[in-house]
Amino acid sequence: MPLKLTILGSGSAVPVLGRGVTAQFLNINERRFLIDCGEGTQLQLRRFKVKFQRIQAIFISHLHGDHFLGIFGLVSSMSLLGRTKKLQIYGPEGLEEIVRHQFKLAQVYLSFELEFVTLSCKDKTLVFEDASIQIFALPLKHRIECYGFLFIEKQDELKIDKDKIQEYQLSLVEILQAKRGETIQRENETILAEQVTLPLEEPCSYAYCTDTRPIAKLPAWIKGARLLYHEATFTQKHNDRAKATGHSTAADAATIAKEAQVARLLLGHFSTRYKYTDEFKIEAQPIFENVTCVEDGDVFYV
Ligand SMILES: [Zn+2]
Ligand SMILES: [Zn+2]
Repeated sequence: MPLKLTILGSGSAVPVLGRGVTAQFLNINERRFLIDCGEGTQLQLRRFKVKFQRIQAIFISHLHGDHFLGIFGLVSSMSLLGRTKKLQIYGPEGLEEIVRHQFKLAQVYLSFELEFVTLSCKDKTLVFEDASIQIFALPLKHRIECYGFLFIEKQDELKIDKDKIQEYQLSLVEILQAKRGETIQRENETILAEQVTLPLEEPCSYAYCTDTRPIAKLPAWIKGARLLYHEATFTQKHNDRAKATGHSTAADAATIAKEAQVARLLLGHFSTRYKYTDEFKIEAQPIFENVTCVEDGDVFYV
């Protein structure tokens, strides 16, 4: 499977027994990322059997403690356990300063290179790309600078429709051109790649959006994502709290999912004032049917 998501922490603000603060582990096309790193994340990684030395980069949404306080412990443990592979950390302005300052004052010399990528964008922006995936930062609307992330599998080359090889008498050179999406130009004929190739399957994609007020632009940015995690800190009965604290309700998240026409919605970042998550689902489902309230340890595949 190209994408596997493990929920390491699904709560907000303070970790409680049974629900850690925000962190997720994502394996997309064998690229391994940690998304947010609340306090206690390294124990959650152990608990849910994720090999954390294989993480190549950490993406931090914002500098509220429930999203990044676990970094110091995790990075320290990686070093104590002898990591040599470089680790990248993507996050907003200030994250590098905080982390480096901590290690400097404690006179910690890491066993590996720590590379920071500071995010700063006002629109959807490509921040990582390799041969098989792309990652975009999505500027969210919270009380402080905050980013969501969109992970997308890159499409392989197009597949030739075998019946068309005969029909158009395609040469090997022309087949390769069509596979690359190029137009075939003959002396008296133009053949578009889509005339001789099969329609592309939807690429595997995952959008992660926390913490944020509902954003009008978001559905366009994440259109058709196969999986969306959107925060639902509150339900509508606490809509005033949601507005005042820069968060969303279950109904807000479901509306975004519907407008973005995603395949599946995951809700999380629940306020500890709610004992059960049923009421989030009851509120979201009439708006967007394929919705799940996540628990720590849940695993989702695309
Ligand atoms: Zn939070
Ligand atoms: Zn926050």
